[in-house]
Formats: sequence, C-alpha cells, structure tokens
Amino acid sequence: MGFDDIRVAIGKGRILSQLKPRWIDAEFPWPLESDSAKLWFAASQSGPGAIIVRGQDVATLVARGVADLGVVGTDLLVERGLNDVLQVADLDVAACRVVLAGTRSTRPDGPFLVASKYQNITRDFLNRNHLQADIVPMGGSLELAPVIGLAPYIVDIVDTGVTLRQHHLVEIETIMHSHACLIANPAHWRAKPEVVAIRDQLIRGLDGMNQAGGLAR
Ligand code: AMP
Repeated sequence: MGFDDIRVAIGKGRILSQLKPRWIDAEFPWPLESDSAKLWFAASQSGPGAIIVRGQDVATLVARGVADLGVVGTDLLVERGLNDVLQVADLDVAACRVVLAGTRSTRPDGPFLVASKYQNITRDFLNRNHLQADIVPMGGSLELAPVIGLAPYIVDIVDTGVTLRQHHLVEIETIMHSHACLIANPAHWRAKPEVVAIRDQLIRGLDGMNQAGGLAR
C-alpha cells in the first residue's frame, strides 16, 4: 500500500514540533528542515504529504477534502464543532489546558470583560457558571490584554504557566484539557484504506489512549 495520494494537514507551532517524533516513530519520512519556511511536503510511497497551516484552519481543509487527515488540538475542535469531520485518534502530544486567568486568583463577582480567541468555549463556560461577561475577541497574544487595559480577564491556553507568570497573571480555573488529535474527512475515511492505515501507524504504541468508544474505527 502506497501513501502518495494522501495528505495530512498539521497545525503550526507546538503541534508540529511535538508531532515530529511520533511521525518518525510511525516510520513516515519527515522532510521539513527545522529552520525552513516551507509549509508543505509532498507525499511518497512510504509516507503521506503534509500541509502546515494555522491550527484554526486544519479542520476546514479536512472537511473540504483538501487534506484526508488533520492533526489539531481538541481545544480548536471543540471551539469549531465536529460536525463535518471525524475524530479518529487521540495523540500523546501538545497537552495543555484552556483556563480563565486574570490579575487575581478569584472569579470576578460582578459583570466583567474577558478577552479570548475561544469565543464559543468562553460563552459556554460563562453560561454554565451563570457568569455575566462581555467577550473581547482577540486572535493571539492574549496575555497582553490585562497589561494594556483591554480586558482584566482572559481565556487562553496554558501549558507550563510561564507565559502567564511573566505577565503577572494567575490561573483562576481550568475550563478544559486539550491535546492533539487526528481527524479525518468522513468520505475519505470510508473510501481510502490508506487513510485508516496512517491512523493505525500513527497510534501504534499508544495503547489505552484510543479505547474510547466515541472514536471512529
Ligand atoms: P506556557 O508558557 O508553557 O504556559 O505556554 C503558553 C503559550 O504557549 C500559550 O499562550 C499558547 O500560545 C502556547 N501553547 C502552549 N501549549 C500549546 C498547545 N498545546 N498548542 C498550541 N499552543 C500552545
């Protein structure tokens, strides 16, 4: 079975750098140089091609069939909704949390402003907790929002917590845990056995992580 017809969309940044060892463990070639600005590599007999895009765009490429598979954080999948792609595996990379953070460690007691790129996750969290807030949409550099006076609270990704501490921010609570997962175009998943073979090769050795009944088989 050759993989020359298969493409995987991969989210830039931590997902891309942390996926590399797993990709190599799966015995797929990884032709991207670490200092290269190249944003794709071609498929070959021995491994799928890759398209490197912003995490927010991975599911769009997969839903439209431009990529057969995608590697994206569950934070971005939950934010976008899963209705037009299949989640086919969990990967042991890019673990992080989506948190509410601010300059004080307690929830605000009245209406407040919160900056986030996760407008849906934030709205859902506010509703579930009967909190009143206006969401200020911001695409990145969220930790700046309290410093520059845009909003005293943020909903953002945290891994080690270093970035929050550097900006004198503290976590108030975790809204969700996130990690990288593999998604598939539903039609390609059913029609192309190579797509399923790539999933199987990528999760080899990840026993226990992919037993959840909700994942497509
Ligand atoms: P840290 O300082 O380790 O808490 O990392 C915080 C910053 O790194 C966040 O503001 C994010 O921009 C980025 N980050 C951390 N983990 C991830 C991840 N799994 N996926 C994407 N970005 C991440």
